[in-house]
Amino acid sequence: MGPGPINADPRVLRAMSAPLIGQYDPAMTAYMTETMELYREVFRTANQQTFLVDGTSRAGIEAALVSLIEPGDRVLVPVFGRFGHLLAEISERCGAEVHTVEVEWGQVFAPEQIEAAILDVRPKVLAIVQGDTATTMCQPLADLGEICARHDVLFYCDATASIAGNELATDDWGIDIVTAGLQKCLGGPSGSAPITISDRAAGVINGRKHIEAGIRTDDDPEVGRRIGSNYFDLAMIMDYWGEKRLNHHTEATSMLYGARECARLLAAEGIDAAVERHRLHGAAMLAGVQGLGMTVFGDVDHKMNNVVAVHIPDGIDGDAARASMLVDYGIEIGTSFGPLHGKVWRIGTMGFNARKDAVLLTLAALEQVLRAGGAPVTPGGGVGAAQEVYA
Ligand SMILES: *Cc1c(COP(=O)(O)O)cnc(C)c1O
Repeated sequence: MGPGPINADPRVLRAMSAPLIGQYDPAMTAYMTETMELYREVFRTANQQTFLVDGTSRAGIEAALVSLIEPGDRVLVPVFGRFGHLLAEISERCGAEVHTVEVEWGQVFAPEQIEAAILDVRPKVLAIVQGDTATTMCQPLADLGEICARHDVLFYCDATASIAGNELATDDWGIDIVTAGLQKCLGGPSGSAPITISDRAAGVINGRKHIEAGIRTDDDPEVGRRIGSNYFDLAMIMDYWGEKRLNHHTEATSMLYGARECARLLAAEGIDAAVERHRLHGAAMLAGVQGLGMTVFGDVDHKMNNVVAVHIPDGIDGDAARASMLVDYGIEIGTSFGPLHGKVWRIGTMGFNARKDAVLLTLAALEQVLRAGGAPVTPGGGVGAAQEVYA
């Protein structure tokens, strides 16, 4: 019940134990095509270029940024938590001239703040996180696509923590590239990074196409400045997933099975229903921790549905309490990073764990751990408040 990774759905684990096949097996290419279609639904997009980058969520981030950014390009990163810093750091490694704007951890940006920064910086790329798990905040994105289009800025978003648990509308919101991971609300293991790329962004990336020697043909002219990574070269990876089936990496077969199953589960449930499930169980967890007498961190109106951060009560040893949750009750909760390390706990309700029994048992255990540590708690207040949300 931490901020991710979470318990994978048993169906995903079962799918991942299926026999291996190679990437030229017609069954495999059919799975790849089907997975592209499934993730169009997850991302709410019609983008042809929707597929998986092999690696954890960070692989998707690096692939998007290294394929878009040429050394010297200006990139604007609004930072509202740890993962904004990550986007800035990766952009720097790509040779970008990075500009950041920041709000205090626990807050989000107003669209006007971002537009003002765009006018100031005139970036090629706006790179922003939707849900920053470090702070639990969910940045509103609906207005940003129109702002980026007006100022001719490419709009990249890391939706790893938020996708499937909070509304995300890639096409309606005009986002050029969105990347994600499986280990949060998608209910899978880490190790696969779904990505979607608009035609506009695909055009920019294909304007830098340098197919590697040994598989290049005379029809493959080299254009633009070569992308600074082979593994994350989206121009080649798009051809690998496309009709050309250009040979690139060896597809991670078991991860493909897992990612496909995550999306199949979601499609069967319905994306809106999945978001609503995260909203319900997140609301129950929020009411529960408040019912225990704990104080929630940050701007609660802008918190992600799927995770809540609470201040560790005075006098409680946060790490000892987390250890007791794990050892005595078999429940993992998290702390946070940087300025919040040891100050807050983060409790998730995501993916397979966005369930009533998981919420109630976590609150019951937390009450006992707080009591044992000597913190004042309202007896039964956590489970009771959560039950009222479910009533
Ligand atoms: C959890 C998370 C990640 C995780 O990246 P990995 O490479 O899968 O560890 C990335 N971005 C955000 C916003 C996250 O919340």
